[in-house]
Amino acid sequence: MEVFAAMAERDHEEVIFINHPPSGLKAIIGIHSTELGPALGGTRMWPYKSEAEALEDVLRLSRGMTYKAAAAGLNLGGGKAVIMGDPKTDKSEMLFRAFGRFVQGLGGRYITAEDVGICVRDMDWVGMETEYVTGIDEALGGSGDPSPVTAAGTFHGIRACAKKRWGSDTLSGKRVAVQGLGHVGYCLVEHLVAAGAEVVGCDIDDKLAADAADAFGIAIVPPNAIYSADADIFAPCALGAVVNDETLPLFKFEIIAGAANNQLRDEERHGDLLEERGILHAPDYVINAGGLISVANEYEGHSLNRAVNQAGGIYDTLLAIFEIAEKENISTNLASNRLAEARIRAIGENNRIFKRG
Ligand code: NAD
Repeated sequence: MEVFAAMAERDHEEVIFINHPPSGLKAIIGIHSTELGPALGGTRMWPYKSEAEALEDVLRLSRGMTYKAAAAGLNLGGGKAVIMGDPKTDKSEMLFRAFGRFVQGLGGRYITAEDVGICVRDMDWVGMETEYVTGIDEALGGSGDPSPVTAAGTFHGIRACAKKRWGSDTLSGKRVAVQGLGHVGYCLVEHLVAAGAEVVGCDIDDKLAADAADAFGIAIVPPNAIYSADADIFAPCALGAVVNDETLPLFKFEIIAGAANNQLRDEERHGDLLEERGILHAPDYVINAGGLISVANEYEGHSLNRAVNQAGGIYDTLLAIFEIAEKENISTNLASNRLAEARIRAIGENNRIFKRG
């Protein structure tokens, strides 16, 4: 495994390998960039098949966090941690407290949070050993579930898409297909219905679908029917890779804008295909940044209002991205990367003007 070559490939600043036999902790912390501020990103626990797989995951995810924070206008860099182990069998207080000690040892260069395989109790143990942790439970003084902020940001992102596509950001009478009626999808439907949109939703969990239908009077279709729904906008709020070779021919949508991560199965090819079909796509890491905005706010002293307001900024960010895409004749995904890179470069230049005390 060529670690330095792998770091150079995506421009990583620092990678920390942790080995602590007494607790069984084996972890990797990836710090992609601290140009904009401390590297923030969740800790994932996963039964990786190899060290190379764990390293690849932490390098990929930490770089993604740099772009996400930069595009969201946050003064944060990108980082991520992975703990190698099975979340069902390998967790212990010792392991998470040991991990917290290593995070503390980085002196704030990396701030951690919950991710796949980690629960509130685990973060509570991490928080016993380090102040550099955020996104914790309300009961423990944190901001709790970030989904309402994510949903608010996604709603404003959908409005920006409407503005770009139809010249008006009003959603009244627009038909929106929402895939997934979980934490984000349910809150998003509430915003959409209040704005006068006609919503059709689906979820593989019948109870969640029935709850949303009861609460908001929306139509429900079977999960597979959502791709061919007669709707103007598709809002994926369930899984990744939902824009792919099988689903693309079914789309009648003019806009795809939802909270799910990694919506394009092949970022470049499917981004280009959407472009060719004239379907406007809101890059997922931009439109779903409300969750990151929420945990970043918690770190600075939580205020739900401030977080929701800040998530409203996703509207202008997306319009700026659409401008870049149009001017440079590139996909919106590529344009969002350009916007993030430009901000990192510009702030980096500013940082060199003088050293703050
Ligand atoms: P969630 O688990 O609460 O909801 C997802 C819902 O999708 C579930 O109800 C599930 O039953 C449903 N689902 C799964 N497969 C489906 C399918 N094939 N068809 C229809 N429904 C299906 O998750 P969430 O917190 O609402 O997050 C939704 C998406 O947004 C995820 O991709 C997540 O990574 C992303 N996201 C969430 C946040 C946040 O703040 N929660 C922030 C950024 C990104």
